[in-house]
Amino acid sequence: MADQTPTPGIHHVTCVAGDPQRNLEFWAETLGLRLVKRSVNQDDPSAHHFFFADAEGTPGTSVTFFPWAGAGSGTVGAGQVSRIALRAPAGSLDSWEARFDDHGVDYDDRVERFGETVLPFRDPDGLPVELVAVDLPADDPTVPWTAFVPEDAAIRGCHSVTLWLADPGATAALLETMGLSAVGTEPAPGAAAGDERTRFAADGPVGRYVDVVPAVASGRQGHGTVHHVAFQTPTDEDQASMRAAARAAGLRPTRQVDRHWFRSVYVREHNGVLFELATSGPGYTSDEPLADLGGRLVLPGELEARRDQIEAGLADVTVPRPDTASADD
Ligand code: ZN
Repeated sequence: MADQTPTPGIHHVTCVAGDPQRNLEFWAETLGLRLVKRSVNQDDPSAHHFFFADAEGTPGTSVTFFPWAGAGSGTVGAGQVSRIALRAPAGSLDSWEARFDDHGVDYDDRVERFGETVLPFRDPDGLPVELVAVDLPADDPTVPWTAFVPEDAAIRGCHSVTLWLADPGATAALLETMGLSAVGTEPAPGAAAGDERTRFAADGPVGRYVDVVPAVASGRQGHGTVHHVAFQTPTDEDQASMRAAARAAGLRPTRQVDRHWFRSVYVREHNGVLFELATSGPGYTSDEPLADLGGRLVLPGELEARRDQIEAGLADVTVPRPDTASADD
């Protein structure tokens, strides 16, 4: 057995959106996550990169978006993260359904999965998302953001991701190498996917589950699809050991990339899903005070020197504030 540190769970999930304003309004206002960082795609500074999280940007709570207006619609399928599941406090799903009715959100009937209740819905780009009702422990590390959604319903970070895979075996072995353990299998009826869902669990308190479902039809990246899932490797040493383990598994991880709020290694796993290994630090408060997170466009590193040019090329957006919300909030 290799000596890499097990990942505590998911660090963040990054998705592709269309219209940036619509994305901001849905994730910050309708779902009530905190916009903790407003930046640009470091590889394509003509596009925004929005980071939504809990009140303090706790690792495991971030969902981030590249709004690429010109990308076109995607198709969820094999080789992708097919679902993002978020934690909602036990007892809050009635209020979420009422909120979804008020806001015209497209949601499905609740389902039971591994003893928990799941409320599936789609964001305005068609991205499949789920709320999972969980009993939050007294020492839960997440911090509710209550600007738009009251504390007893506020989303508390990632619960899980579901991977749709053509050949789950190699990915299952990689997840075990990363420190997750298979904890159960359930039927998973669905047209696009196979008929069995296997759950893998890490030991951390947030984002600890990865579900694997066999699938046949390939996905296509675009609006309403997941770009990658990042796993927590809290320190550089944890990350280096996990990177070595990925190489030993026959994969080709990148060198470490400085993502300014964390340091990242990317690796495309055997079935084509892009995994990231992300450090816990320096964190979203490394360049803005906690109270001001998301308040301005942050341009990391050398991008700041090109601020005028970059701002001129970005779509204008208005960040939702409680005092500018529509009357029905
Ligand atoms: Zn990422």
